[in-house]
Amino acid sequence: MDLTSMSAGAYDASISRIELYTLFVPFREEVQRIMRASAGGLGMAIAAEEPWMGGDFVICRLSADDGHSGVGEAFVWLPETGLIPEQITSVIAHALSRYVLGASPFAVAEIAKHMERNASRNEVAKGLLDMACYDLAGHICGQPAGELMGGLQVEEIPLAALVPLADLDVMSALTEGFREGGFRTLRIKLGAGIEQDAGIMEAVRGKAGEDTRLRVDYNQAYGPEEAVQAILAIEPYGIDVAEQPVAAEDYAGMAAVQHRVGVPLMAHEGCFSLRDIITLVELGAVGVVGINSERPGGISAALRAMDFASGRGMGVVVHNQTLGIATAAQLHLAAARFSSLGHDVELFGDVMFEDDLILEPIACANGTAAVPLGPGFGVELDEGALARYARAETVIVEI
Ligand SMILES: [Mg+2]
Repeated sequence: MDLTSMSAGAYDASISRIELYTLFVPFREEVQRIMRASAGGLGMAIAAEEPWMGGDFVICRLSADDGHSGVGEAFVWLPETGLIPEQITSVIAHALSRYVLGASPFAVAEIAKHMERNASRNEVAKGLLDMACYDLAGHICGQPAGELMGGLQVEEIPLAALVPLADLDVMSALTEGFREGGFRTLRIKLGAGIEQDAGIMEAVRGKAGEDTRLRVDYNQAYGPEEAVQAILAIEPYGIDVAEQPVAAEDYAGMAAVQHRVGVPLMAHEGCFSLRDIITLVELGAVGVVGINSERPGGISAALRAMDFASGRGMGVVVHNQTLGIATAAQLHLAAARFSSLGHDVELFGDVMFEDDLILEPIACANGTAAVPLGPGFGVELDEGALARYARAETVIVEI
């Protein structure tokens, strides 16, 4: 079964109501403590000046005229995404809603066509609507969303853990803790300077052992020449992927670095649309494609990006710090393309945020998450938590 090829007429339901919730969810106290003590209060080398103490989210609920509903979740961080939640709720309420209301949730390609023709960019808002369509369609036909993405290949997904840029002792202790917790892949935040980075990776590899896969994230710390030297300096420690070593907009710089190092690069801050991903791949600027819940936007575009990467023989990293809905959505996505990923999935929201906004937490044990197998994304929104973390009036658009 495939959502895009399923006849929209098979299920006689159309979307009649859109609800948009703007939330701020703080990081857990212990995460805030590590952030305060870490590089720039951010745990990474990015140049933002405001401390990062929680996440801004928009949750979208689509209701159909047959009584079913489905949800989507988008995470935004202004220094990275260039968006605040109100921009997303506003563009949906005042523009995109007209291409969704009255449509079948199975008709994601048709909805996308109208959104693309009439509103350029805005991938996060469009993707949020697309994501909610998959959950709603799953509820209507009684199938897990992954079955509408080509079929669930697995029901358990091995996860990667995140080690923030902090004192070497903290980074070493976290590495040891994650290894003991069963994680087989770690993402290490770097960008402290070429020598310091090499020192960190020597210590981390020592604690992680030879059987742990390591990927690194520079958060744009270097110019292209420095980035080449920085990556060559850590190559001996066995690196799977080097994420965003140079400035987000410097595609030529990414390509120049990738042509001189063997470690595959991945774009993160520099990648927001399917077109960005295709351009980076065509330039030879990346060797791995990164997928977030909000990048390239929604499930349909993520599937296209993943299939494009796979067609080019490239692996895919699915990663984000999400609440429960987007975590579940990304687990379904990863499970539907598991054989072509080649890298463990990093979904770390449950560790970072003080609430996951769903009633039953996603089962995680020994560094592995179980794909929630109910209809749609298999999770249920916690209405109490939704009210508790809301920081604006709910935006409602209906027929
Ligand atoms: Mg990153």
